[in-house]
Amino acid sequence: MIDDDNAYLADFRARLDLPGIIDVHTHFMPERVLSKVWSYFDSVGPLTGRSWPIAYREDEQVRLKTLRDFGIRAFTSLVYPHKPEMAAWLNDWTAEFAARTPDCLHTATFYPEPGAAGYVATALDRGARVFKVHIQVGDFPPGDPLLTPVWGLLEDAGIPALIHCGSGPAPGRFTGPEPIAELLQRFPRLRLIVAHMGTPEYSEFLDLAQRHAGVYLDTTMVWTDFSEADSPFPVAEHGRLREFGERILFGSDFPNIPYSYGHAIHALERLELGTDWLRQVCYRNAAELFAVS
Ligand SMILES: [Zn+2]
Repeated sequence: MIDDDNAYLADFRARLDLPGIIDVHTHFMPERVLSKVWSYFDSVGPLTGRSWPIAYREDEQVRLKTLRDFGIRAFTSLVYPHKPEMAAWLNDWTAEFAARTPDCLHTATFYPEPGAAGYVATALDRGARVFKVHIQVGDFPPGDPLLTPVWGLLEDAGIPALIHCGSGPAPGRFTGPEPIAELLQRFPRLRLIVAHMGTPEYSEFLDLAQRHAGVYLDTTMVWTDFSEADSPFPVAEHGRLREFGERILFGSDFPNIPYSYGHAIHALERLELGTDWLRQVCYRNAAELFAVS
């Protein structure tokens, strides 16, 4: 499977004349946190009746080599806390990881807690390029008053937050488009990358992209066989995929995916939105947003 992916992805890059692919949604995290995430996915099958076998359960160095062999030019190390007093420690780890991994876009995170503005400012000083927020796992409203200074810092710095805020695969108390719409009312210049195109509230998050120039969407898992079986993307929205083609970014969820990496790219190709759209989504938009050369 992985050998086939290398050949397919090399051919894809050659056909599109791309210097590489940029993947804005990949997970690298401290070993013991990652093993907890993997146990969660292992337990998902018995809980939901839908198994989630992780395709790339390997050591960190093997996973890095796998991405580089796929021709991934830049990627992230998305981490997210599920409780207080965890984010600053995760940010220390991601700063250290980015320092020893030059092709990783330095990633950080936060949680609504009194010290949040302080450690977010520190992360920005250290060169963080993107922040990850997970509304369902974190179980907090994005408009939490403790986050007011944090959103202000990000808005002023022009640094995006990649936010899992759609109600898939499981809804939370604060998931869905409304809390994000309210946040954007308060911080209209904020840059947000809506993970998974907002699955399953695709149209509502496209509406937000239409209203706010700082709203981007990542393609993570969308249009794969796995996602289409559960939360199919409406064909009626293909026009808006083209319209907002400059704000759609390829993401994979590597390594926690129940299918091969090449399938995620193939899922974009089979939309038949054209080679220029693919070039924007798989490389150009993220290269511009993160100044990758
Ligand atoms: Zn993810």
